[in-house]
Amino acid sequence: MDFQLTPEQQALKNEFEEFFSEEIKNAPPNWSGNLMALFESDENWAYHRSVADKLGEKGWLSLPWPKEYGGREHSYFEQLLFNEVRAYYRVPGVDMWGPQIVAPSILEHGSEEIKSTWLPRISRGEINWCQGWSEPNAGSDLASLATKAVEDGDDYVLNGQKIWTSGAHRADHMFLMARTDPDVPKHKGITYFLTDIDKPGITIRELLFMHKKRDYNEVFFDNFRIPKKNIVGDINKGWYVTMAGINFERSMIGSVSELQGELEELVELCKGTERNGKTLAKDPLVRQKLAQLAIELEAAKNWAYYVSHLQSKGQNVPAESSAAKWFSSELTVRFANTVIEIMGLYGTLKEGSKWAMLDGRFEDMCQISLGITIAGGTTETMKNIISWMGLKLPR
Ligand SMILES: Cc1cc2nc3c(=O)[nH]c(=O)nc-3n(C[C@H](O)[C@H](O)[C@H](O)COP(=O)(O)OP(=O)(O)OC[C@H]3O[C@@H](n4cnc5c(N)ncnc54)[C@H](O)[C@@H]3O)c2cc1C
Repeated sequence: MDFQLTPEQQALKNEFEEFFSEEIKNAPPNWSGNLMALFESDENWAYHRSVADKLGEKGWLSLPWPKEYGGREHSYFEQLLFNEVRAYYRVPGVDMWGPQIVAPSILEHGSEEIKSTWLPRISRGEINWCQGWSEPNAGSDLASLATKAVEDGDDYVLNGQKIWTSGAHRADHMFLMARTDPDVPKHKGITYFLTDIDKPGITIRELLFMHKKRDYNEVFFDNFRIPKKNIVGDINKGWYVTMAGINFERSMIGSVSELQGELEELVELCKGTERNGKTLAKDPLVRQKLAQLAIELEAAKNWAYYVSHLQSKGQNVPAESSAAKWFSSELTVRFANTVIEIMGLYGTLKEGSKWAMLDGRFEDMCQISLGITIAGGTTETMKNIISWMGLKLPR
């Protein structure tokens, strides 16, 4: 594996740098840049939308797709460079699911009609998706989902409930799975639907995250209709469509790169903050903690590059990408807690307090980061995948 960028890759990275280093200057005053921040206020959402429009115009939301669907046929490694630079500057603008989960599923399993209807809109950044997968009794064991979809003329009619639906209160569309055949083994009776959600039969109810902001929701379907033409893949084959959605850049470089930027700010803070007559930067315990974070970040970054390198060679790497998800999400938790330890009681103050350090961002991150070890597959699920697919242990 050679980490040296080609001149073309370096030029592309420079282009990303130029754009995102300017774009962060348009962020609203309390912008924390964490994963969920875009959903948390009207100002944040407007900022996200304005960047999304620009990224769509530049063709940066579809970098690795085939040209015929609006892509640029870049490799996953170039996709990684994009994710790395964007996250470093903490700029939003990429829908959490459209380019990363929905589009790869459509590219692999969608009919020509599905592709021509949805892909151009995703590449222009027009659609705001939410993900209707988890249910009260189906999380890690997702295939146990119970929301029912019953055929009726040209539509399917849905009844049931989804939960933890991030950003559903901002979204205009949902991709979801529902049970279309209850009489077969659980993975084989599920269908994958795309739908707009601004119509009757759906109720979206607020669920507050533990930091008291609105990130996710409960969603209820009551005779909610979805036209058959919005099914991706074959009826009852939705599980396999879902699996195709994991064929994207899975290195977790975004989380790592965001933390890299945070570490640089933290180091500057420690150089400029005095406690007990000397700067934090001279305190041996603080120095040890900063060095530990730097080492772990470097390890996470190298692992991210490695995963992307394997993916660019066309390899499917579930164990390696699960290791990346596990390590970087757990590192985010350790990072946030360490920052609070360094800041002392100041670190526990919320944004808005005149005594809060770095705008109270880490008080926020401390709470959000726990969710990152759960969302998109828990730490235990990642370890199960590593032991089963990586170490070849029996299931
Ligand atoms: C911040 C956040 C955002 C989210 N956003 C969305 C979203 O937008 N859309 C969506 O559909 N879902 C979303 N989720 C839901 C998320 O996908 C689920 O929470 C996750 O899959 C875990 O499911 P669960 O909560 O039902 O926990 P469970 O599956 O009930 O797990 C409970 C505990 O048991 C452990 N466990 C379960 N099975 C095993 C096993 N086989 N071996 C070892 N340990 C096991 C788990 O690791 C966990 O610690 C979000 C969650 C969070 C926290």
